[in-house]
Amino acid sequence: MRGVDVLPAIRSSRYDLPLTYDPGDCALGIGDVVRMPLGNRDAIGFVVSPVYELEQPRALRPIRERVDCGRAFDETGLALARFVAEQYLCTLGEALGAVVLGGAVPRIRDVLARTEDAPRAPRSVPVRLIRLIWEEFAESFTLEQLLRHPEARRVADRRTLLAHVRTLTRQGSLRRIRRVADARLRERRVRVLEPGDVAIRGPKAEALVTFVRENPGIERADAVLAGFSNAVVARAVGAGALRELLVRADGLSSLQPTRDPHAATPEQRKAIAEIGAALERGRFETALLHGVTGSGKTFVYIESIQRVVQMGGRAIVLVPEISLTPQAAARFRAAFGSRVAVVHSALSERERFDAWEACARGEVDVLVGARSAVFAPLRDVRLIVVDEAHDPSYKQENVPRYHAVAVARERMRLENGLLLLGSATPSLESYAAARSGRIALLTLPSRATALPLPEVNVVDLRAEFEAGNRAIFSSALVQALGERLERREKSILFVNRRGSAGSLLCRTCGAAIHCPRCSIALSVHRNERLLRCHYCDFQMPIPSRCPNCGAESLLDLGIGTERVAREVSRLFPHARVLRMDSDTTTRIGDHARILAAFEAEGDVLVGTQMVAKGLDYPTVTLAAVVAADLGLNVADFRAAERSFALIAQVCGRSGRARRGGALVQTYAPDHPAIRFAAAHDYEGFAAAELAERTQLDFPPASRLVYLGVIGRDRARVQSTAERYARMLRDAGLAEVLGPAPYPIARVNEEWRYRIALKARRVKPLRAFIRAELLPLARADVKTRLAINVDP
Ligand code: ADP
Ligand code: ZN
Repeated sequence: MRGVDVLPAIRSSRYDLPLTYDPGDCALGIGDVVRMPLGNRDAIGFVVSPVYELEQPRALRPIRERVDCGRAFDETGLALARFVAEQYLCTLGEALGAVVLGGAVPRIRDVLARTEDAPRAPRSVPVRLIRLIWEEFAESFTLEQLLRHPEARRVADRRTLLAHVRTLTRQGSLRRIRRVADARLRERRVRVLEPGDVAIRGPKAEALVTFVRENPGIERADAVLAGFSNAVVARAVGAGALRELLVRADGLSSLQPTRDPHAATPEQRKAIAEIGAALERGRFETALLHGVTGSGKTFVYIESIQRVVQMGGRAIVLVPEISLTPQAAARFRAAFGSRVAVVHSALSERERFDAWEACARGEVDVLVGARSAVFAPLRDVRLIVVDEAHDPSYKQENVPRYHAVAVARERMRLENGLLLLGSATPSLESYAAARSGRIALLTLPSRATALPLPEVNVVDLRAEFEAGNRAIFSSALVQALGERLERREKSILFVNRRGSAGSLLCRTCGAAIHCPRCSIALSVHRNERLLRCHYCDFQMPIPSRCPNCGAESLLDLGIGTERVAREVSRLFPHARVLRMDSDTTTRIGDHARILAAFEAEGDVLVGTQMVAKGLDYPTVTLAAVVAADLGLNVADFRAAERSFALIAQVCGRSGRARRGGALVQTYAPDHPAIRFAAAHDYEGFAAAELAERTQLDFPPASRLVYLGVIGRDRARVQSTAERYARMLRDAGLAEVLGPAPYPIARVNEEWRYRIALKARRVKPLRAFIRAELLPLARADVKTRLAINVDP
């Protein structure tokens, strides 16, 4: 008798066991999606074992069917999910959440159906919402559709909307129905154009035919994007001058690979040779490529990947979430043509799906993408490159809280490959590992273009303030900007995201406007005329009077990009100013559009973290950090390291092809992060910071685990946290700090207390948490436990 192990597709921290079913005559393999009975209803599940012979026959419930969709993951994906569950103390179901593309799997879900022509509107539900549901929505719809609808979002926030839906359901105007819904994402077909045999007349049609001859197989949609109207395309196809074919979309470009015309610099050549030697050895190794900004790390990556491909292997390139510029993508596309798939975080889930399918079919040699690309169903991966490996976006902040570098390391260990960590400002963890010889160290100490790094001018804002300048720009910055504009050179102004969302402060009573559910000030969103909570999504209109004392003296505290851009325009009315942040890049393609405009005709680019990385424009000769302190004053032991890296990155945008300068405005000019960054002295900074970390026993001297206890009842949360802390102290496996309230102690009406654990070895600590604390936490309905390993 045979059995197969299936994990119900439920993301829950309380449920972790695969169940054994009778496969019947279904041919099943790891990653297949099935429908099976669970309790008294049907559920969707993932196959997590091969079909095997049972040692003892026993009564098993049968699989109902293999669901007709692609595999949700492959063997490697499953192995990595197991690794994540083990390392980060989550369930396998939660870990698979990072591996599986949700939209590619059918699910059983609730839909809402309207029951009456017009509801007896309960007074608590806004008329606007009722009208929306009854006039704009289909007969039945999903909750997500409602919650995502822009009009609904204007009516109320997520939680309030949910409450309204409950009211309508209870009162009988809406009904819930359970349904097996098809996967949203399925293989897609697109229309492509090829030249036909018949000639056609007319300037537009002729231009189109020439264009298609130059780009045979181009997608019809791309031809329209290139400026040919749908009508012209239809006419050319109708006349037989073009042929239109329906092909499977794979998200791959049809470019032929081209070689970079540059010859490697001697430094690059040395790094490439050492990487090549490691690849030849064909066993698991890690190397750190420490190269200053502009040293040509991408060139090294591409040459090394070419080597891998020649050897018959494949490669994954991880890039930070927001730094995959169209420029960087184009370089990989140019090098690998149709064998590369690039998954932008800015792309739709649809395009990510296409790329993953192409990986699974073996059509891709190189995958470039953010964090989650490390799980891609690509076979024979012999090299994983992590670009800007120190970047915080490699750590996922919600469950599963994995670190992509750790997962990449595990993947290379499993596949006997090379992990290459590239950075201008390596994390102290990898730097310490390289210093101690545990991983190889390759360096590119100078810029590939033979230009020096820009000279950095640190402006002391305290002196500016004393001299009577209360503006956000120092006189040095105003002068530097003016010079660039005169010389028709470009400038980049960086505004730290962490401080940029402004809150409102009353100048009369001194109160800031706080979220009613969280212990944090609300952020101003001028465009929408709203105050928003960035934690729970609470929103309210911007008030004209202080809700506390009634005075009309509310002051916007933030130095956001909007305000900085306005200031540039006020000082230099003729400057062409572009702004890039999460407000101006809400739609797919915004990012690329803004950068293209900046390259073509912009003078000043004002932005958040998005402009700090990856941009490589020759005529940028000024990079400035508007307020360097905003990142220094956060409660995080990595604050100095992060600030150093950001300042180095921002300054690195300048002077790549023409001598350039950089400017850092700060109230703390003597802070080591700022002093060393201005001197381009990574070694100096790392040595000082490592000494401090060692003294305080912070990573890399120790490993850190945060345990958060979260719940509505403050006393209960605190006493539970204290109980856990006592147990941990008694176990003696780690230094136990706290519990203490989180820096933001209350979010969405829930209190949060944190225990910080420092340990030399986390393995026994992990085992203790799993065996002793998790069962308690799962049994406690009043509190939740949030575990963050290596935060
Ligand atoms: P990094 O990623 O290290 O910051 P990039 O890879 O973006 O640096 O390279 C910086 C610039 O140097 C790019 O414009 C690139 O085209 C150029 N470059 C890289 N390698 C060479 C080389 N060997 N010769 C000339 N230019 C190079
Ligand atoms: Zn809130």
